[in-house]
Amino acid sequence: MVESQIIPRGIRDERVIDAMLTVPRERFVEEGLKEQAYSDYPLPIGEGQTISQPYIVALMTESLALEGHERVLEIGTGSGYQTSILALLAEKVYSIERITAIASRARKLFDEAHCSNVVIRIGDGTDGWPEEAPFEAIIVTAASPEVPDTLLKQLSEGGRMVIPVGSEFEQTLLKVTRRGGRFIKESMGGCRFVKLIGRHGWSANKVEGQN
Ligand code: SAH
Repeated sequence: MVESQIIPRGIRDERVIDAMLTVPRERFVEEGLKEQAYSDYPLPIGEGQTISQPYIVALMTESLALEGHERVLEIGTGSGYQTSILALLAEKVYSIERITAIASRARKLFDEAHCSNVVIRIGDGTDGWPEEAPFEAIIVTAASPEVPDTLLKQLSEGGRMVIPVGSEFEQTLLKVTRRGGRFIKESMGGCRFVKLIGRHGWSANKVEGQN
């Protein structure tokens, strides 16, 4: 996966490549899908949600330019695969997931792996995690109609946020950097994520099959 999809598509950060070589993606997909764990596409993880495509995980992680000392906020724990990559590259990961069953499954995987620098909270991640703010890096792994102000406020000076922004069906992956009083936005290309549902995202009532 790393040699055929990640490196040829331009991922260069050695630490990101090492982390992707270290974390077995198959641990994070359902029993019947393990054979497809290293394929170049998202896979279902239950409750209508998906584990992100490996290349997108690599691209988003690389854009955060982690050096190892950062406290990272992640919105949308999902399978916990992206979380595990971040845990190898940063000091601590604060991850929020709105669906209880999904959060519980991810928590179990972290406990089994004795991963001690990840904390998972169940709730609406669009509010961020004000008690632990500011964060040097914020990653949103669900599609948002706009960049939530609540999250911008929780970014430290020089901090980076990566977030898919757009419609329900297609989004642009945005990197936002906080410099002085400004937020500098850069586009990293098109993508497609499941919806970010919450107070500062999409409303829940139009979505079926979720709690
Ligand atoms: N990075 C994850 C992506 C999972 S899909 C992976 O690779 O497995 C996106 C996840 O975001 C879903 O699990 C969904 O339930 C969650 N989500 C959607 N809106 C949310 C919100 N407001 N707060 C927290 N989690 C949210």
